[in-house]
Amino acid sequence: MKTVVALGGEGIGPEVVDATCELLVASGMPVTVLTPPHGAAAQASHGSPLPDDTRRACETADGVLFGAAGGPPSSAVVTWLRWAKGTYASVRPVKHYPGSSSPLARPDGIDYVIIRELSEGLYPGREGDLADLARAMPELKDKVGTRVADYGPGRFAAKVVTRAGAERVAKFACELARRRKARGAPGKLTCITKSNVLPQSDGLFQQIVAEMVKRDYPELAHEHFYVDDGARRLVRFPQQMDVVLTMNLYGDILSDLGAETAGGLGMAPSGCFRDGWAYFESVHGSAPDIAGRGIANPTGTILSAAMMLDHMGLTAEARQLEAGVARVYRDGKALTADQGGKASTKEFTRAVLDAYRAQ
Ligand code: ATP
Repeated sequence: MKTVVALGGEGIGPEVVDATCELLVASGMPVTVLTPPHGAAAQASHGSPLPDDTRRACETADGVLFGAAGGPPSSAVVTWLRWAKGTYASVRPVKHYPGSSSPLARPDGIDYVIIRELSEGLYPGREGDLADLARAMPELKDKVGTRVADYGPGRFAAKVVTRAGAERVAKFACELARRRKARGAPGKLTCITKSNVLPQSDGLFQQIVAEMVKRDYPELAHEHFYVDDGARRLVRFPQQMDVVLTMNLYGDILSDLGAETAGGLGMAPSGCFRDGWAYFESVHGSAPDIAGRGIANPTGTILSAAMMLDHMGLTAEARQLEAGVARVYRDGKALTADQGGKASTKEFTRAVLDAYRAQ
């Protein structure tokens, strides 16, 4: 029996996580689901959004499934799961399931993975006052030669790329591309940066990725696009992508874009990894506009659970669950409102359970 810790978080998070967990249990998989206190409720009852016992439960479980973060209590949960635990690779499959509502005329065959570097870049939020930066680095100049000290009052944000950080996520991406190639994918790594504008930071990332593919993974094809061109290509030529590796903030944006092209934000799953630790969550956020109405699409969370099952070694169950989701979209009878249907979260989930059993 495997143990899963489910943390719903906020907004639609609890609705889609509860539905997914009911499905896992009802399906008869060898899985026990624990729902320890967290977020606002734990803040009220335990004085902490993530009590020690909840952390320990996550650390000892075989899998961790998170819903969505909203305000400070649930943000503290994801801050721990993601940043404090040192995950550095967010794996975000972008796959079209026929029957889902893509805005593209020809979405068939979209099946690639975005890997978002999760620990560096701009996202960790090292911001400050420009006057402090000017004091620390009085000779720092921009491209036209103006010193930061001469800008006047303002703020700055620091983008960080380390050699070690870029190498570990590049290796992660190459290994994934290699595994996908063994299963019939083209075996291509697409790196996306803005190295023409940021040759030192983005340039280092691009260079490390290119060198690693050439040196250690000669069987993989490799290409690089600037992020503006990359965004265009993800819309225009999504079927040409296999594994797309990009930096933290670009990955945040491009994975929402990719999710929409494939069928909708509510369908996109993810897993966040570091060596020896992973947790799984849908790409979407707390969607406060539809929270509490029972109409959220749980597909992103169900597919995140499938990724989690795969990670836990329940590979057959993971495949069967994904096949169940695909079948519900193909049938088109129990789709949620974001997909043009009338089904509630629970009705959709019930249809996936029936399709899972029918596989
Ligand atoms: P947050 O700030 O927590 O990221 P947000 O509202 O900015 O939340 P998302 O929660 O990612 O962004 O969602 C954006 C919109 O997409 C939502 O307002 C909602 O209309 C739609 N959406 C997102 N997820 C789903 C879903 N699972 N089912 C249906 N619609 C969804």
